[in-house]
This record gives sequence, C-alpha cells and structure tokens, in this order.
Amino acid sequence: MAKQYDIIVVGGGPGGYVAAIKAAQLGAKTALVEKENVGGICLNHGCIPTKTFLKSAKVFKTMKHANDYGVTASGEIGFDWSKIVSRKDGVVKQLTGGVAFLLKKNGVDVYNGFGEIKSANEVVVNGESLQTKNVIIATGASAIVPPIPGVEDAYKKGIVVTSRELLAVKNYPKSILIVGGGVIGVEFATVFNSFGSKVTIIEKMDGILPTMDEEVRVAYTKTLKKDGIEILTGAEVKSVSDHKLTYNLAGQDVTIEGDLILMAVGTRANSKGLEHLGLEMDRANIKTNEYLQTNVPGIYAIGDVNGKFMLAHVAEHEGIVAVEHILKKGHQKMDYDKIPSCIYGSPEIAAIGLTEKEAKARGIDYKVSKVPLAAVGKALADGEKEGFIKLIVDKKYLEVVGVHIYAYNATELISEFSVAMASEATAYEIAHAIHPHPTLSELSLEAALGAIDKAIHI
Ligand code: NAD
Repeated sequence: MAKQYDIIVVGGGPGGYVAAIKAAQLGAKTALVEKENVGGICLNHGCIPTKTFLKSAKVFKTMKHANDYGVTASGEIGFDWSKIVSRKDGVVKQLTGGVAFLLKKNGVDVYNGFGEIKSANEVVVNGESLQTKNVIIATGASAIVPPIPGVEDAYKKGIVVTSRELLAVKNYPKSILIVGGGVIGVEFATVFNSFGSKVTIIEKMDGILPTMDEEVRVAYTKTLKKDGIEILTGAEVKSVSDHKLTYNLAGQDVTIEGDLILMAVGTRANSKGLEHLGLEMDRANIKTNEYLQTNVPGIYAIGDVNGKFMLAHVAEHEGIVAVEHILKKGHQKMDYDKIPSCIYGSPEIAAIGLTEKEAKARGIDYKVSKVPLAAVGKALADGEKEGFIKLIVDKKYLEVVGVHIYAYNATELISEFSVAMASEATAYEIAHAIHPHPTLSELSLEAALGAIDKAIHI
C-alpha cells in the first residue's frame, strides 16, 4: 500500500526543510522530497558559500593592513584559492549534514529524487507513489542566463558563469566582468576585488542596487569605486563572444574582456512541469495568499517559487506560516512590509521597512534621524569609520517606518528593528532600552535619540 502523509514538502531548501521540521514537530506525518543535497541554493550554492569567501577576503584585507593596528605581518601576504574553496566546501558539508540530521531526528521521511507532483494528494518519487493530504511546493528558483547573443555558447564553455558555477571555479580569475549590479553582483565584486582581480560591473539601470535607499546606494557606489571596481551604468549588453563582451553605452558600442563573465541578472522560479496542476501564476511565479495557499486546495507554495521575496529568511518564515495554517495551529500570516534585507560587502548594508522615497510616495509625514558610524566608540576601536544609520519614523508617534544601515556588521544590527517593527515600537521604546557599551548597537540607540530630539554623541 502507498505510504500516507499529512504533508509532503517538495524541495529541501531553507523554506522546505524548515517547513518539514516544523510540521513534524507539530505532529504531522511528514515527507520531504529533494533531488540534490538538502539545504537548497542558500546552503549549497548561495548565502553560506559566499559568506565563507567574504570571510577569507576580509582576513586577507585585514592582514594587508595589519600595520594600521600595530601588528607586524612579515613576508608577502598571499592567498591559496584552492584552500579558500575547500574551506567553503567544508562549511557547506557541515551545515547540510546538520540539516539532514535534524530532519531525521524530527522524524521527517526524506526521499532523494525528483518529486513529480501529480495532485494535492499524490507525489511520485523514483517511481514510488506517495499519498498525502497536503503538498507544499518549495522548489526555489534558478539564475537566469539571458538570451543575449553568444551567452549560451560561452556558458557551455565555462566562460560565462552564474553564481553557482563561480562558487566552484578552480582557476582564480585575474579579471571578471559582472553583468548585473544587484545583490549577487556586488557581493562577488567585493570578493574578487579584495583578492586583487580587475572587476567591472555592467548594469543596465542608472545605478546599482536599484531597490535600496538612495543615500545608501550613493555611499556604497562611492566605496566600490574607491576600492577600484569599475561600475558602468545605463549599459546594455549586446553580445558575448568567448571572453569578449560588447555593451552599448549612450549609443556607442564598446568591447571589453574578462577571464570570466558572471551573469547576475536575477532568478526565475522553478515552476516548470507544474502546469497540469491548474495553479494561478504570475509569469513563472506561483500566486499565493498571506497563508501561502495557492488557488488549488491543499497546495501551498513557499520561498522563491512564489516570487514574492527571493530571500532565505522569508522562505523559512513562509514555511512556518504555511504549516501552521495547514495544521490549524498558530495564527500567523505573512506581513511583507516588514522584511529585512541584507547585502554582504565591505561594509555591509541592512534595511527594513520603507525607503525615504517610498515614505514620501505613500504620503507619510516622516522625519529622518541619521547618525554617522564615527559617533560610536566601538566602531573606532574596530578601525571602522565608514558608514551611517538612517532611521525613518512617522512624525506624530515616532513609530519606526524604515531603517537603513550602511556599516560593518550592519546585518547583525537590523534584527533589533525587525522586533521594533513587529511590535510597532517607536523611537521612545528603542531609546528607553539600555544598549550595552561599548557595542555597535549604540548606533541604533543614537539614531532613536536623534529621532526624539538629539543624539548624544554627534
Ligand atoms: P537582482 O534582481 O538583485 O539584481 C539583478 C540586477 O541585474 C538588477 O540591478 C538589474 O537591473 C540588472 N540587470 C538585469 N538584466 C540586465 C542586463 N541584461 N544587463 C545588465 N544588467 C542587468 O538579482 P541577483 O543579484 O541576480 O540576485 C538574485 C536573487 O537572489 C535576488 O532576488 C536576491 O534578492 C537574492 N539574493 C539575496 C542575497 C542576500 O540577501 N544577501 C544574496 C544573493 C542573492
């Protein structure tokens, strides 16, 4: 007789594996189907591997500037790319192994193979039919290789790469052309620039990181340029021929060359092959409501495949909301207005809520409190001077409307504001909470004080 489940999760990335563990913890008979290693893009080919590269880059940079800290580093400071890659592989292995262990320990049945979703009640894996009451689709997204002449051919030759292949590249590139100045583009630009490659970003819009707050974009662009990264904006890629790339800028065609060409122009939901289910779609994305239900009863879609926010932490949260809804436990629904986003470079960017432009467009009567990093003693001790926090609050109650942090470890600071926004806190609550000294979190305290009347340390 076919195995019977309450929930089958298809896709074992951060959305899928968290959903499966949560479902099992809440008492549901749960299966997870994954065709590769559990952990998805995030653990295997994305968030975690890039962070290991960035850490190596930071160690390298710090060693080169050891003198600034009174430390003598003698001899040539170098790096061994193969060791950087194998350190990355080790971290990935440890993490994905940990996730596999957690799934097992929580009693989730893991099927290794491609999951064919026949209906809300049947999934077939490796020829075996599994029966279920509900299906959660968590099949993620894949990097887009755009249909630009010559790209497909150069991709087959390994000259054009997506972030996935770049993370496994064996020969260190002396030069790299990065098509797309979004999140992936700037993260890799930072890595390869730190190790001395010649890096060129080719972005079709009038600036990089189009969704970020304007002041942050301007500051970040300045930093990348100061570090020696070339940024071409308003540039349209016309063709690629092996290592050569031709773009058009202000009516003129220009050809440049690189050892590698990274395509970082966005991702597309992995929803191919699901057409027979009758799901309502928005292009490749599966449409879902605030409980992650699709239009087909018993089928939910979480993470990149619904195209709302292509972020691992959103996928995880959606997984929990979907499972709680299926099992009628908990009353959470998604609030897509309060999603933190992080960009890992040097320094980092972290943001939540509205940008100043969006606050203006929504007619919010707001004020801004901006505090430079130099106001914080811990930052100076750490040798970090560049950056700021920009806190946007509504004028009447001083409720947090948006926060934009541009600083080292900004990504660790933003969670305070996630809690603040989830609890509709104002600048008063943040200022009344005692922040330990000396810490970088004093940047947030100073911003709250500044929103009330004046910051102390500027
Ligand atoms: P993205 O959407 O962030 O950026 C793509 C950029 O490419 C845009 O600036 C766009 O204008 C530009 N572009 C598109 N077509 C172009 C072309 N033909 N020529 C030149 N420029 C072009 O996409 P991404 O950077 O590829 O990242 C993919 C997804 O992964 C995103 O949704 C991102 O949020 C997610 N991600 C998040 C993180 C993080 O949170 N730290 C890290 C990596 C990836």
